[in-house]
Amino acid sequence: MTWIFKRCPNCGADGVEWVGDRFWRCPSCRFEYFHNVAAAAGVIVDSGGGVLLFERTREPSRGLLSLPGGFVDPGERAEDAAMRECREELGWTPSSLSFLATFPNRYEWDGVPYSTCDIFFSTRAEGMRVSELRMDETEGRSPVIVPFMEINYARLAFESTRRALRLYTELQWRI
Ligand SMILES: [Zn+2]
Repeated sequence: MTWIFKRCPNCGADGVEWVGDRFWRCPSCRFEYFHNVAAAAGVIVDSGGGVLLFERTREPSRGLLSLPGGFVDPGERAEDAAMRECREELGWTPSSLSFLATFPNRYEWDGVPYSTCDIFFSTRAEGMRVSELRMDETEGRSPVIVPFMEINYARLAFESTRRALRLYTELQWRI
C-alpha cells in the first residue's frame, strides 16, 4: 500500500515504507502513521419477517444491496452513529437498537483500502413505511423489504453484511 503516500507527510522524503499491514514509516525522519481499523455501524431494520435493503448509488459496490449504516464519527458512540445514519440515509430513525455482533470488513475509498470493524445492530421497523422513506439518493435508492429467507446473499455489497444477516437469521429461526 506504499503507493498511497508517495512522500512522507512529515518531512516530504521519498521511500515511505508500509509496515506489517498496519502503519507507514518514513526511513528519513522515522515518522510513523498508523492506518488503524475504522469503526462503522450498520442496522438490520426488521419488518417482522423481512429486512430493509437498498441499492447503493456510490462506490464501493455501487448497485449492490446494503443496510443503512456508515462510519462512526470521531467522538461519537456507535449507537448514535447507527441512529444518525438511518436518519440521514432513510429519513427515518429507529426508536431503539439492539446490539447484534461485529464483523471485520474491507472498504475502499478514493483508492485507499480501509480495514473496518463493522458494528451491527437490529431494530424493529415500527412505524416505518418503505413508500414514505426519504432516501438520500447520493447514498442509495430503491429501498425494499426482503424476506429473511429470500435474501440474495450474492447481491449484498459487503462480506460483513452477509455474516450479520446470516447470524441474525439463525438467531431468529434457530436454523
Ligand atoms: Zn519523514
